Amino acid sequence: QEVEKLRAKGAKKRWKPEVNEHFNKELNKIMRMNSMAPEYGVSLGYAELLVDLPWNEMSKDNFSLARAKKILDNDHFGLTKVKERILEYLAVLKLRQDMKAPLLCLYGPPGVGKTSLGKSIAKALGREYVRMALGGVHDEAEVRGHRKTYIGAMPGKIIQNIQKAKKSNPVFILDEIDKISKDHRGDPSSALLEVLDPEQNSAFKDNYLEVEYDLSNVLFVATANSLDSIQPALRDRMEIIELSGYTVEEKLEIAKRHLLPKQIEQHGMSSTMIKLNNQAIVKIIEGYTRESGVRNLEQKIGSVVRKIAKAVAMEEEYNPNIKEADIERLLGQPIFDKDLYEGNDLAGVVTGLAWTPVGGDILFIETNLSKGKGVLTLSGQLGDVMKESAVTALSYLKSHADEIGIDYRVFSQYDLHIHVPQGAVPKDGPSAGITMLVSMASIFTQRKIKKDLAMTGEITLRGKVLPVGGIKEKILAAKRANIKDIIMCYKNQKDVEEIGEEYTKGLTFHYVNYVEEVIEVAL
Ligand code: ATP
Ligand code: MG
Repeated sequence: QEVEKLRAKGAKKRWKPEVNEHFNKELNKIMRMNSMAPEYGVSLGYAELLVDLPWNEMSKDNFSLARAKKILDNDHFGLTKVKERILEYLAVLKLRQDMKAPLLCLYGPPGVGKTSLGKSIAKALGREYVRMALGGVHDEAEVRGHRKTYIGAMPGKIIQNIQKAKKSNPVFILDEIDKISKDHRGDPSSALLEVLDPEQNSAFKDNYLEVEYDLSNVLFVATANSLDSIQPALRDRMEIIELSGYTVEEKLEIAKRHLLPKQIEQHGMSSTMIKLNNQAIVKIIEGYTRESGVRNLEQKIGSVVRKIAKAVAMEEEYNPNIKEADIERLLGQPIFDKDLYEGNDLAGVVTGLAWTPVGGDILFIETNLSKGKGVLTLSGQLGDVMKESAVTALSYLKSHADEIGIDYRVFSQYDLHIHVPQGAVPKDGPSAGITMLVSMASIFTQRKIKKDLAMTGEITLRGKVLPVGGIKEKILAAKRANIKDIIMCYKNQKDVEEIGEEYTKGLTFHYVNYVEEVIEVAL
């Protein structure tokens, strides 16, 4: 009678004739089987999946853009441009009606709200939300399933998630699409390509499911920390929306409006039981986190709330008003020290600005001279491009020693060692060019670098400074480290102007075209 139940359920389905036929065939097969045979369970499970999947069952979209805007604003502080782009995207969807929109990709450093924005998009549209984590997926079968003939075969994650959504048009988050890897078991990217191609995805084939499934009504949203590691064919298909890190001021607002209330609720407390003043929150941001996003901040706030929750639960006396001075007692010694970054007291030590997939960061370049015969040594896990920058910088200095005031004999009588600390962090890219050059010029002339100065820029052999990327993240990192002056290429001025004054307040920018100007500002 299990079969009868399934048949009754199947009768209510709005599936295509092919699927219906396939389903009935399967039921007939089950009826002929011995219920003790192992295939019986497999077939039954398969028939159950078929009836359980949503076939052409849609949730109705809510296309009120005013409502969508309100939901996005309520869930996330700031991100004005990002929200605007999302609303534009929804507006186009509304007008086109056919949902054949390009795949959205939210791109930026960790903890800036990519995954949670995806959730808000679902909420704004009134659709179901499902999320597939792609980090570490390296087997095509995880996307597309195994054939039923395998023992323990299952449908792929796409179909599993659709089943979970119970609708055929959910918002489907492809989380961390840049972390897919491939190996001998096939390339999951190419399976995804098929999933995301509007020409093909109305007839998606899962190996387990066997019948075609229409994915064309699903709204896919991908998230990524880095664009370089996404397969180019996939990347071309995406409309990329970039999110960048937050300033301390923004983090403070996010903490007050979202993170703290969320943590309070999660710990079963109410807002009268714990209050953090602004200074206390800023202390957590500056002393206990160093990040572009707010993920660690959320965890630290969680720890504070937990400590208080414990006091509440044990009915201890406590003061609900938490001030800056209380933070060390609750969280221990601060992990980060702003002054750490003011140590340019020696010649040859220069602060550079770097971009990484996890946000901007500052890095130091140290140069040392020792008696020798002009050998150049590089250490600190530098990539090839960065090594080439060092060689270029040295060549430039050699050919311009007189102008810069370097005694040319040092080149042949001393060995030069350039080191970039934090060896565990791989470093590459051309943007440390001017930083290395200044570091060497500083050691050769024994002149110290100006205090609170950082720089980023590529150099050419002829001494031109070229523009570099990741400017906003780099500026945020500089502010976190208390940098006051930044040197960069003239052509980067437009990037700085684009990012809004609240990010550049308190910083002085020195725009340059040539290496001479860099040395003039720095030394
Ligand atoms: P990852 O790249 O590591 O996956 P992510 O960008 O997906 O990071 P989320 O998990 O979405 O990061 O965000 C981390 C936390 O910070 C979430 O709890 C999220 O709600 C919160 N958050 C991030 N940005 C904002 C914001 N602008 N307003 C409110 N909350 C935010
Ligand atoms: Mg995420």
